[in-house]
Amino acid sequence: MPARHLYIHVPFCARRCSYCDFSIAVRSVTPIEEYLTALRTELKQISERDDATSHDRRVTGRAVRDALETVYLGGGTPSRLGGAAVASVIAAVREHWQLVRGAEITVEANPDDINDIAVAKWIDAGVNRISLGAQTFNDAGLEWMHRTHSSAQIARAVTILRRGGIDNISLDLIFSLPEHIGRSWRDDLEQAIALEPSHLSLYGLTVEPTTPLGKWADRGQVVQGGEEGYEEEFLAAHDTLSAAGFEHYEVSNFGRPGKRSRHNSAYWTGVPYLAAGPSAHSFDGEVRRWNVAAYAEWMRRLSKGESVVAGEETLTHENRISEAAYLGLRTSNGFVVDDADPPYLRAWQEAGWASVENDRGKTRVRLTPTGWLRLDSLAAYAASASATAAI
Ligand code: SF4
Repeated sequence: MPARHLYIHVPFCARRCSYCDFSIAVRSVTPIEEYLTALRTELKQISERDDATSHDRRVTGRAVRDALETVYLGGGTPSRLGGAAVASVIAAVREHWQLVRGAEITVEANPDDINDIAVAKWIDAGVNRISLGAQTFNDAGLEWMHRTHSSAQIARAVTILRRGGIDNISLDLIFSLPEHIGRSWRDDLEQAIALEPSHLSLYGLTVEPTTPLGKWADRGQVVQGGEEGYEEEFLAAHDTLSAAGFEHYEVSNFGRPGKRSRHNSAYWTGVPYLAAGPSAHSFDGEVRRWNVAAYAEWMRRLSKGESVVAGEETLTHENRISEAAYLGLRTSNGFVVDDADPPYLRAWQEAGWASVENDRGKTRVRLTPTGWLRLDSLAAYAASASATAAI
């Protein structure tokens, strides 16, 4: 199956947020031309590789690739590229792929990068969805996270986006922050709802050892809310946002009807996707590939015309079952098991972790929000039970 989704990693950030362990390149001045030159080289390499898996349809002797349904600029902070360079990225994509009419083109943005001029250029280039890194509306919390923006700038960014014509706005928020910050999760949810976004992505704070937060935790300077606080805030978000008309369609994601992320939903259904940029991961339906993570190495290889693929793995039958269970159970579509009545599902239902329904003689299992709090262990169990049943 040809890929119809393209992810582009833009690694630049003004500084590292206290909790962040993503592959980023901290730059006070974004090296726009250097990045665009390298990216154009990689997109050409990918398009040539994509030809091998494209449908065998030929027009004037050239393979016609399938048109892309989604393009997603993630990071890092793609909005650090500004208006013209985001347009150049999308123009570079269009040199190799057509986009379907109404293709979803998302740009991740920080509130302080949003201005009228940039938004006008993004609109002209076809950008129609912005994922805005709000994280919290509490200014002390934003400072603690080393964010580069204030709470007031979040609302201002939303106003500018709407004024410019982008109404499909997703907000990222972080829950389970340490109590000493004094942030109210309910306030954050209410302020987010008041901005009328079409989508929200919520992430629980995790302490990664290599981050500033990890170092603070080692020194005993940070006490997290604990498992109980994490669960409480996750379930409060489910209740509050569902009551406000959002569909909790994936463990971390909520969308207004018709406003689910089409790009991320593709990942969760296991279809192929292309990817460019340092640390980007792609999947062709059988093989998962990942790029070198460091920006400097990615640049160096592309300047010599070399491949930036750092590794690959071919999914085994067991990998596929595990992935299908994990990806299915993390969404509201659920996971279909062959067994009509597996005994473990009765226990899950009694515990309030799952609902089941008959799906043409098989069983479709969907996790409840309480079940999503145990996603990893339940998915591992379902995958191992399915693998055993398949033997
Ligand atoms: S802006 Fe995003 S990618 Fe950049 S450091 Fe902060 S969390 Fe990480």
